[in-house]
Amino acid sequence: MKVLKLPKQKLDFFVSVVQQFGEVHGPVEQDGKYVFKALGRWSDVRLNYIRTILPLKKYFLPPREPLFRYTGQGGYAPCVEELEKRIVLFGVHACDVFALNVLDRVFSGKYPDPYYQTRRRNTVIIGTDCTPDEHCFCRSMRADFVGDGFDLFFHDIGEYYQTLVGTALGDDIVLATGPLFEQVTQEDVDEYKRRSFRKRHSYRLDIEIRDLPEIFEMEYHSDIWEELGSRCLSCGSCSMVCPTCYCYDVVDEAEPGSAKGRRIRNWDSCLFAMHALVAGGENFRKSRGSRVKFRFYHKQRGFVAEYGRPSCVGCGRCISVCPVKIDMVEVINRLRGVRHASCG
Ligand code: SF4
Ligand code: SF4
Repeated sequence: MKVLKLPKQKLDFFVSVVQQFGEVHGPVEQDGKYVFKALGRWSDVRLNYIRTILPLKKYFLPPREPLFRYTGQGGYAPCVEELEKRIVLFGVHACDVFALNVLDRVFSGKYPDPYYQTRRRNTVIIGTDCTPDEHCFCRSMRADFVGDGFDLFFHDIGEYYQTLVGTALGDDIVLATGPLFEQVTQEDVDEYKRRSFRKRHSYRLDIEIRDLPEIFEMEYHSDIWEELGSRCLSCGSCSMVCPTCYCYDVVDEAEPGSAKGRRIRNWDSCLFAMHALVAGGENFRKSRGSRVKFRFYHKQRGFVAEYGRPSCVGCGRCISVCPVKIDMVEVINRLRGVRHASCG
């Protein structure tokens, strides 16, 4: 992997060049929180943001998406209008890049999803480093640093961004900027290591994930699940904001009086009461406790069995939005019998 550096004062020029690779989107402030959106003006971007409300899955698996149109006799035609749009996501944190790598495994695996994959192909990912807040535990989930899944990744080293070039496309972007990037010096490398060390020691939350699937196995009948179920409102907010929750529902919207219509997919949540309701009226997860349990088990145990690591990346979004303060870190530490959730 190539390592270069970009003078911070040339960032504006860099972004003007990057525009030729797609519409530039980045984090902007909205009502005291942050959202990823198209940048009208570069000055709107807030690279020191904490976390966005919605994660980047909204670009690849939109909350509501028409899949195809159908007509009675004419078969069906896929809805592809927006798929080829080229986008540059600028300012993506390591945990969110990691989350996209997790989604890639799902949508490129056993049942490849052409909608997801086309959008992914047409999107440039430029990462930036970040400072953890009181809800971040990406370090515990091994997602505080990411080695692939981005085209370029910027680490702040003072006057410069030390830049990892992750793909051939990233290299093309560097080439398109002419002599903007410079070679790193030993001093830059030392500064990177100093900052990396400081970041590693700035996390306030910590969990141990080794043998966690086994602990979950042993605690399947723990009282914790019913207790959490008695608090949970089944609002689904935790899964909507989660960068690696990918459940969706598919519905047909028929045009009244005709045989035409559209097939739509919408985000769904395993916390919703009807999620496991099937034809015949059976609901496999009737109680709220069983639904909360399912989400925790899928993240921290089921995904490990199938893909070799938990799907949780420790972004802290579910902790920050839950109206009744159901907290992934606290639950895991309780299951482990650990009293204090914070780092020593
Ligand atoms: S489970 Fe919570 S902390 Fe983990 S990735 Fe999802 S939103 Fe982030
Ligand atoms: S955000 Fe909290 S209350 Fe809402 S479904 Fe998730 S765990 Fe339950």
